[in-house]
Amino acid sequence: MFATSTLYLSKPALRENVRFIRDMLGETTALVSVLKGNAYGHGITRFAPLAEECGVNAFAVFDAQEALTLQAATKSESRVIVMGMIDDAGIEWAIEHGVEFFVFDPTRLETAARLAREVGKPARVHVELETGMNRTGFDEKQLDYLRDFFERFGDVVSLEGLCTHYAGAESVANHVRVVGQIDRFAKMKNILHAEGVRPKTCHTACSAAAISYPQTRMDLARIGILQYGFWPSPETKIHHLVDQEEHEREDPLRRVLSWRSRVMSIKRVKVGEFVGYGSHYLAQKSMTIAIVPVGYSHGFSRSLTNQGRVLLRGVRAPVVGVVNMNALTIDATEIPDAQIGDEAVLIGKQGDLEISVHSFAEFSDQLNYELLTRLPTNIPRVVEE
Ligand SMILES: *Cc1c(COP(=O)(O)O)cnc(C)c1O
Repeated sequence: MFATSTLYLSKPALRENVRFIRDMLGETTALVSVLKGNAYGHGITRFAPLAEECGVNAFAVFDAQEALTLQAATKSESRVIVMGMIDDAGIEWAIEHGVEFFVFDPTRLETAARLAREVGKPARVHVELETGMNRTGFDEKQLDYLRDFFERFGDVVSLEGLCTHYAGAESVANHVRVVGQIDRFAKMKNILHAEGVRPKTCHTACSAAAISYPQTRMDLARIGILQYGFWPSPETKIHHLVDQEEHEREDPLRRVLSWRSRVMSIKRVKVGEFVGYGSHYLAQKSMTIAIVPVGYSHGFSRSLTNQGRVLLRGVRAPVVGVVNMNALTIDATEIPDAQIGDEAVLIGKQGDLEISVHSFAEFSDQLNYELLTRLPTNIPRVVEE
């Protein structure tokens, strides 16, 4: 209630993005909305119901804890898939609640079979194949093992999906590697198929792969960054746009998130004085400084010291001095009528101006993904209809 800043989620923006993604994927590929990293910082609890209102009914998270948060926030019919960490207790809970999970080693698969028998409900698993990322997944030598396993336990372990993940589909620099992964997946899938292992679905695509490699879309696509209104990389954006008709070459994505605070205090500083801690900013003129109660503890990186920008009264005001733990200072000299309580936009639009996550990320040397997921969970998320 008394938070010093708020993260706003735009429902019209999300609706547009979901429409774009569905059009791109086509009718035969279902959308799985990826909500790991607290929905890329947007907040699972607020974002997931909003996505449901926009027609999404399948979600993927990294771990069982996120799945628990998600289940509490969404309709019971929505599909929930854990792509990463889940321990034995988590597996038991998942089986009880119909939550699906990736398996990438025999131990987890066998635990799933044992617990499915104990619980008396099927374990719904997605078998991940190692195709070249060299992170998680069964490799080619384990295909016989998988065949034997599903022969023995196919009654209690339901093979919902066969999947893999690409090691960098957002960059053409990885083209050879990604194409190798696509081929390896097809080959391994065919071997399993010939051995009688029949997954209900195949899925491999993330946002970048879905755009740049249409053959990766298959039955489901696991889409994260696009739904929030960001391109995985500038290359992916260009790849999409050049494929469009001339008159459609507009950016179809809308940013869902904005971040706003209010001016806490205003101060005049004389020429020759330093602003804030240390000697990082020397006033070269007499100045007006506005103090905004957002600092690095709120996710506004300290590396934005003397670098960041904040929108105040329709002006792009530079951050001056060191970003503190709980506050930052901006130069409001050119905004003479600035007042305590004025809206300060950290990310998003004000009037005709916008501060993009991308510009932020440039200054602080972080990826969009990193900056977003570092937004603290305790900043309130509020939906804008
Ligand atoms: C994060 C992730 C995705 C989604 O990636 P985006 O680039 O955000 O679309 C898909 N699959 C897996 C396994 C992931 O970890």
